Amino acid sequence: LIATGGAAAPQPPLPAILIHAGAGPFRDRLRADQPQVTRVLHDVLTRGRTALEQGADALAVAIRCVELLEDCELFNAGVGSALCADGTVEMSAAAMRGSDRAAGAVAGVHTVRNPIRAAELVLGGQQVLMIGEPADRRAAEHGLATQPNDAFITKREQVALALRAQSDAAAHGTVGAVCRDRRGELAAATSTGGISGQPPGRVGDSPLFGAGTWADANVAVSCTGEGEAFIRAGAAARIAAQVAAGRSLQTSASDALAEVGAVGGRGGLIALSAAGAYALELSTEAMPRGRWQAGGEPQVWVAR
Ligand code: ASP
Repeated sequence: LIATGGAAAPQPPLPAILIHAGAGPFRDRLRADQPQVTRVLHDVLTRGRTALEQGADALAVAIRCVELLEDCELFNAGVGSALCADGTVEMSAAAMRGSDRAAGAVAGVHTVRNPIRAAELVLGGQQVLMIGEPADRRAAEHGLATQPNDAFITKREQVALALRAQSDAAAHGTVGAVCRDRRGELAAATSTGGISGQPPGRVGDSPLFGAGTWADANVAVSCTGEGEAFIRAGAAARIAAQVAAGRSLQTSASDALAEVGAVGGRGGLIALSAAGAYALELSTEAMPRGRWQAGGEPQVWVAR
């Protein structure tokens, strides 16, 4: 058959990456770190871009971007995680693939060097969420790098924990990435050390699908902020439901943050749609974040 006339075959939307490094106040510490934070986010976007241009899939790139952010001590994930009230580190991470909603997460892990790789491992198996020591053990058994809990603790987080005792201001800096690859498929990944001064055992929204992390055929979302409020607002699932019902991504994203606000929380989120839209939303003063889309250059912002 020879096709004549008619519309050209629809092109999938352009490959794209959004990343965030936590929503919160625009504190002196973040102001001082701004040049370095900007450089790191730029570098992560550039590496993600190269991978997408070479044909890597959305899930692999979202996970890789989060792994690079975990390895940076500036952020509250992996090394440099916020400390629990007892001075230890407990980390959580989640990854989700939009095409088949394959999902994997870990919560309350102590020794796996890159929690997002432990989440990827869970995604490849039968469970969706694994917690604590068994999750760390499984990661080690599969050859993922581990280190003693002390090795995640940085001086700056010890200071932040001590200051928090006086100021009661929660520290943020969770990291996340959402990607769309050249086939138009979506993925989301998020990783966190939680909130500075949290009681051991506390889990926020980041490893909970539909709260802090989500990807389906229409949309990929990664959230950051006061996790309890994101859970109670069902933030990421709310965006997915609204986009599926035909609402714009932008409206759905601002509505979700309004709902987080309605239950008393603040934060931010990044979201990409299969239709080609993106959203970078925050209700806090600052959220280091970046965007790259095929045909353009990486862009990075720190404050509002
Ligand atoms: N949402 C994270 C939590 O509640 C913290 C953050 O995003 O900074 O654990």
